[in-house]
Amino acid sequence: AKNQGRNAVCFFSQELEAELMKRHGLEHLLREALEKESLIVLFQPQIEMVSGQVCGFEALARLQDSDGNWISPLDFIPLAEEIGLIDTLGQQVLQQSCAFASQLMGLGKDLKVSVNVSAQQIRNRQFIDYVVQCLESSQVRSRMLELEVTESALIDDYEQTRKTLQTLSNMGVSIAIDDFGTGYSSLSYLKSFPLDVLKIDQSFIKDMGSDEQSHGIVQTIVLLAKALGLWLVAEGVETPSQLSELRTMNCDVAQGYLYAKPLESQAAYEFAERNIAA
Ligand code: C2E
Ligand code: CA
Ligand code: CA
Ligand code: CA
Repeated sequence: AKNQGRNAVCFFSQELEAELMKRHGLEHLLREALEKESLIVLFQPQIEMVSGQVCGFEALARLQDSDGNWISPLDFIPLAEEIGLIDTLGQQVLQQSCAFASQLMGLGKDLKVSVNVSAQQIRNRQFIDYVVQCLESSQVRSRMLELEVTESALIDDYEQTRKTLQTLSNMGVSIAIDDFGTGYSSLSYLKSFPLDVLKIDQSFIKDMGSDEQSHGIVQTIVLLAKALGLWLVAEGVETPSQLSELRTMNCDVAQGYLYAKPLESQAAYEFAERNIAA
C-alpha cells in the first residue's frame, strides 16, 4: 500500500508537469501570435431561414501551432483572460472583423459581423473607445457590427455593463446574448439590457430531435424572442431535420455545419458572393 501511494504521487506529478508544459507552450504561442498579429479569425455564415440568404457571419478566433494544427479558443480564451491578454486578443479579433466587414460592404448587401466579447473586455473602460476607433478606421457602419455576450457577462458587473452596452446600442451596434439558456441568470435582464438577438445554445439544437424537453425548450425560446421583439439565431445546426424543425417553429436565422464551417475570410467572402448571386 505504501508503494502504491508513492506511485500515485509520482504519477500525479508527472501529469501535473505535462499539464504545466502544455500551458507554458500555449502561453508562448498566444503571446507570439498577439505580438506578430498573426492570430487567425474565421467567419461562419449565418443564414436567414425564410430567404436562404446569408445575413451575417460570426467571427471565431484560432491559434495555429508550429505543426500547423489549429488550437481551439476553448483552450486559449480562458488562458488569455487569466494572464491579462484578453483585451489585446479582443482588439485583434475586432480589427480583423471590421476589415472583413469593410470587404463585405462591396457586396452591396447589409451583412453583419458578430464578434464574441468576454466579460473582462466589456468591463474595460476603454472598450467603447476601441470599438469606435475600429469602426472609424475601417469605415464600417456600426449597424454591421454585432457583439455577442454571455448571460454571465451581463450579471458580472451589472450597472457598468448595462451602461456600456447601452452606449454601444445607441451608436447602432447590435447586441446578442450568446449560449442563451445555459447561464444561471434570471430572465429579468432581458428587460434591462438593450438586446437585439438571442442565440440559442447549440446543446438544445443537438438534442432537439431525440429529446422532447429540448424540443420544448427551443420552441419556448423562439416564442420568448418573438414576444420581446428579438431576432433569434439557432447555432450548431447540423442536419436537414433540425433545419426543418426550426423552420416550423419560425426561427429566424440558422448557423452551423449544415451550411458551412467557420471559414477563412477569403472563403467566407466567396461564400457570401455565391449565396447572393444564387
Ligand atoms: P460560441 O460563441 O458558442 O461559438 C460557437 C462554436 O460552435 C464555435 O466553436 C463554432 O466553431 C462551433 N460550431 C459552429 N457550428 C457548429 C455545428 O454545426 N456543430 C458543432 N458541433 N459546432 C459548431 P469554436 O470556434 O471552437 O469557439 C468556441 C468558443 O470560444 C465560442 O463559443 C466562444 O465562446 C469562444 N470564442 C471564439 N472566438 C472568440 C473570441 O474572439 N473572443 C472571445 N471572447 N471568445 C471567443
Ligand atoms: Ca458566440
Ligand atoms: Ca454560442
Ligand atoms: Ca459556447
